[in-house]
Formats: sequence, structure tokens, C-alpha cells
Amino acid sequence: MRDTKIVATLGPASSSENVLREMIRAGVNVVRINFSHGSAQEHIDRVHMVRRISEEEGQHVGVLADLQGPKIRISKFANQHVMLANGVTFTFDIHADVLGDEFRVGLDFPDLIKDVVKDDILLLDDGKIRMRVLAVNEEKVDCVVEQGGKLSDRKGINKLGGGLSAAALTAKDMADIITAAEFEADFLAVSFPKTKADMYMARELMRNAGGNALLIAKIERAEAIPNLEEILDASDGLMVARGDLAVEVGDAKVPALQKMMIRKAREMNKLSITATQMMESMITNYVPTRAEVSDVANAVLDGTDAVMLSAETAAGQFPVATVRTMAHICDEAEFSALVNLDRDLRDYVFNRVDESIAISAIFAAHHLKAKAIAVMTESGSTPLWMTRYNTSVPIYAFSKNIRTLRRLSLYREVTVMQQLETDMPPYEVAEKVASILTAKGIVSKGDTIVITRGSTMGKSGTSDTMQIRKIP
Ligand code: PGA
Ligand code: MN
Repeated sequence: MRDTKIVATLGPASSSENVLREMIRAGVNVVRINFSHGSAQEHIDRVHMVRRISEEEGQHVGVLADLQGPKIRISKFANQHVMLANGVTFTFDIHADVLGDEFRVGLDFPDLIKDVVKDDILLLDDGKIRMRVLAVNEEKVDCVVEQGGKLSDRKGINKLGGGLSAAALTAKDMADIITAAEFEADFLAVSFPKTKADMYMARELMRNAGGNALLIAKIERAEAIPNLEEILDASDGLMVARGDLAVEVGDAKVPALQKMMIRKAREMNKLSITATQMMESMITNYVPTRAEVSDVANAVLDGTDAVMLSAETAAGQFPVATVRTMAHICDEAEFSALVNLDRDLRDYVFNRVDESIAISAIFAAHHLKAKAIAVMTESGSTPLWMTRYNTSVPIYAFSKNIRTLRRLSLYREVTVMQQLETDMPPYEVAEKVASILTAKGIVSKGDTIVITRGSTMGKSGTSDTMQIRKIP
């Protein structure tokens, strides 16, 4: 049973029913709808297809809607692209309606002009092209190309060190939040947040649109790092968004930041997704590089809830093989992870009843060498607490709420089971759970299982009961 979850971005390479079904069978737990590309209708159609296929496959696949955010892009060239040599001068012009050439190109974010000064470094196309600012006036930014190359239409621009002032939520994002609420997104990823205020605003817009997605903060701006704690506090989880983050802070800083962010998320009972270029070479190759294998394994060992695929599954040649290979790397890495529950829990202070039930259950299950923890959950908070520790006992989640089951798709170590009516006496719940786990071959005669539930099922945060049972 794999602990780490896989998020796969959907796109042209993964929109046929066949490929999508095979990807889910190969191990996709959550699909990512990327609002940076495609129309609202395309996204809605994809989500409907995912929901139908996952039902047919008996899986609860989550849907993560990822907002584009204020990604600053150049506009288009007359010939789709230009070659820039080192040392030449190049100008960004706010008159985006003029098609670009070797000397200049338009911008979709005129305010860039306010944010840059002489000697700033601008990075284009994820850092492949580097320019130094020579001069700025009201209409244009003149630069010298320090590292040239091919520059094509609509590539992104970042400023080294961060400091671009665009607000986290654009008018397009606000419209996309409404679409996400319509297709009942389970997770909403907010791009480029700088402070908790950005997350509060996204949550309010989501609520107003009638959605209840968990909020994921994409950490990809230099300014987000010092504000990490407050951003996380206002979110349900984070994404280590290594693509933009690497160009803002410098790529060599990203590995240590990844470890810090995942640790912080776990400490604060939040989720984490590690993203971007994890299996990049599999866009065109059937096998990953050694470095990619190590990268995925290291994210697993860092304790991430999920690893993410972007272009590999959205536009790559081998979407299904990529998922299968990634799942296998996770399995092997998890196998080697050390469990030291006693040390982790020694200084732990309980704050709430449901929290103490969650932690007590994993402690008891670990020492009794139980085969399974079965958790009846209303909102998902009890299994979340359970998985912030490195347990050795598999956790099986049941809920009467199908939307809760879909959110659990992202939680590390949780196997999402099925919808279960839990408003019955404790004894009957235990019987039912034991028979489901037995029927699936998860437990057998003589095995111990630990069950947690609330005495007032139907309300969230009410887990107050732990039962320990031997399968007769
Ligand atoms: P993106 O976010 O793919 O939407 O840019 C992820 C990242 O920046 O790494
Ligand atoms: Mn990004």
C-alpha cells in the first residue's frame, strides 16, 4: 500500500477517457486542473470525466483547481519566437498590441515598470534567459541580455529576489474560482500569495461562490518565505512550487527550503505537495533520470503528502508510464523510512479531545502491532492528525460524506475506503468495519484493529471514542 499520494496535471495528453482511466489505475490520487491553460468548459468537461471514471473504478479521486495568479508574461512575437544573443540590448514595451521582434516585445503586466530599477535581473522562461536592466522609463524597460537563447510567445518573467507587486488574485482568478466552485473542486491552489491576506481573500471568494475546497498556498515568491507561518495558518496546506520559487530565490536554495516547508507544514497539521520537474525527462523519455528518481524519493523521505506531475502528464508522451514509475519510486522510498513514534510523541501536548483520540489511537495501534486503524471521520481532521506522525500502521478512512473522502485523497498514509453510514451503535460500526476490512483481505482472524469514531456522528471535530478489537 503506497503512503505518498500522486497529483497529476491534466492536459491534452491526458484528456482521453482511456488514458485517464489508465492513469487512475496506475496510481493517480488527485488530478490538477491548471487554469493557466484551456477554457472553463474544457476544465468542466475533464472534471466530469474524472468523477465518472473514478466512480466506475471505485476510487475517490480528488480534484485540485490551480489558479493562474499574476504570472507576468511577455506578449507575442511577429514570428512566434526570436533568438537573443548575449550582450545585445532588448526592450520590454508596455504597448502589448505591437508584435515583438529581435529588439522589443510587449508585456501583459504594464505595472512591471513600477517594480524594476536599473541593475535588477529579470529571468525569462523559468530562468533560461537572463537580462540586466539598463534603464526604465514610463513606457519601457531597456535591458542587456546576459544569457541569451530562444525566446518564444507568452513566456513568463520573474525578478531575481522577488519584489513584483502584482496582487495574488487577478480578475481571471476570481472568475476561475467560480468555475472551481461549480465543479466542486476539492482543493484550490492559490498562486503567488505573499501574505495571509491573499489566502483569506481566496477563501472568502470560494465561500461566496458556494465552494468548500481546502486551500493550498503555492509558495513561489521570495516574500512568501518570511511569511510562511502566517500563510500556512490561513491555509489547509502548501505547495512547494519549485518552478517559480527557483527563479525568485535562486535554484540552489530550493532543496533546503523544500525540507523546511514540509517540516513546518507537518508541525502545523497542514498538507504539503512537492511540485515541478519531478519526472521532467519523462515528457519525452520512457525512463526517468537517476536524479529524478532521487528527487521523488527524497520528497517522500521529507514527509510530503503528495508528489506532483505537471507537463509529464499534461503534455508528455508517456503519462501512464510516468505515474506508474513515480508510484514505484514512492513505494520503495517508504519502505526504507524509519518509524520512531515514541520519540516523536514524547513531548506532544494534546489540545483537544479529538486530537488526543487521534494520537492515542496511533500510539496504541503501533504498540499492539495492530493491522489497521479504521477512522470514521466527518471532516477529515482526525486522520490528518494521525498522519502528521510517522506511523507503521495503515490508516483506513470511512465517512458518510463523499466530499470528505475526496479530500482524504491527498493525505499521506490514508487509504480512502468507502461511504459508510455511521449513525449506528458503536458495536455495529465495529462489526461493519471489521467485515469490510476482512472482505478486502486487509485483516484476518486474530488480527487487532483500532477504531476511532465520535459519539455524536454527523458533526465534525467530535471524535471521542477509541475501540480496540480482535477479529474473531
Ligand atoms: P505553476 O506552479 O506550474 O503553476 O507555475 C508550480 C511552480 O511554479 O512550480
Ligand atoms: Mn508557479
